Amino acid sequence: MIRIAREPRRTARATLPGVRRFADTVLDWYGTAARDLPWRRPGVPAWAVLVSEIMLQQTPVARVLPAYEAWLARWPTPADCAAAPSGEAVRMWGKLGYPRRALRLHEAAQAIVDRHGGVVPAELDELLALPGVGAYTARAVAAFAYGRRHPVVDTNVRRVVARAVLGQGDPGPPSTARDLSAVAALLPADAARAARFGVASMELGALVCTARTPRCADCPVLASCAWRAAGCPRYEGPTRRPQRFAGTDRQVRGLLLDVLRAADGPVSAAALDAVWSLDAQRARALDGLVADGLVDPLPDGTFALPGHQSSTGVPISSRE
Ligand code: SF4
Repeated sequence: MIRIAREPRRTARATLPGVRRFADTVLDWYGTAARDLPWRRPGVPAWAVLVSEIMLQQTPVARVLPAYEAWLARWPTPADCAAAPSGEAVRMWGKLGYPRRALRLHEAAQAIVDRHGGVVPAELDELLALPGVGAYTARAVAAFAYGRRHPVVDTNVRRVVARAVLGQGDPGPPSTARDLSAVAALLPADAARAARFGVASMELGALVCTARTPRCADCPVLASCAWRAAGCPRYEGPTRRPQRFAGTDRQVRGLLLDVLRAADGPVSAAALDAVWSLDAQRARALDGLVADGLVDPLPDGTFALPGHQSSTGVPISSRE
């Protein structure tokens, strides 16, 4: 039985005329200021939208663009991706970071083939059931690929709503239910406009209402912005600390994966040892990659991306 995911009701905070004005203003602005990004073009398949949304989580647009183009050139459909070894997904992920996303996207492609005949589903429950697809990505695909009416809430949208509507300088820690409810209150009734409002408010946060230096003079909702009207009060609540990268296990994991991606086959332990001088940290990072399924340790002591041939020619695991 399919469980129907329900979207939150509108909160009492936003009045209907105010909501309409806010949405109309953001939509008008988007019509003139939107960036031309390939995953937003008319007729882009849902698979391309899903790939872009997974890649854009925690990675800036400029770094995603070449990886997105290369991924879709190689695997234009979920079936193409599902037929490749999972290690090839890790290789194609390149330097996007957080490479477990590559494995989850590959698993999602397999699930789309197995459960949906190779077509990315449009229903929220079916999208949410795909590996690696959470509350944000499921709604983004349903809205942007299929024009469904769902609140789409990313970091940029949370910041715009916190400032323009709630009068807070910072949205504070995320809460899926609260964030969805706040954005649902702003959605136009028409599904197509609601879907466009999702990407428009995201773009407003990315280009104008930026985290550190909002460009209020250029903002289409300046006249009604609650935070500006309140005199830009300093946010006193909890915030997230920016994550350090240099010297962390994340950096070492990235260096180890660089070696494996650059190789056509398995690599020796000595080749991996050369990337980082601290033995304990390097071993911990490699153990983590193995535990996450990003690296296969082979019986002969070499290492490979998952699903590749061992150095003795024995296939490890592959759907090809
Ligand atoms: S007026 Fe400034 S703070 Fe308010 S939404 Fe626009 S950019 Fe953000």
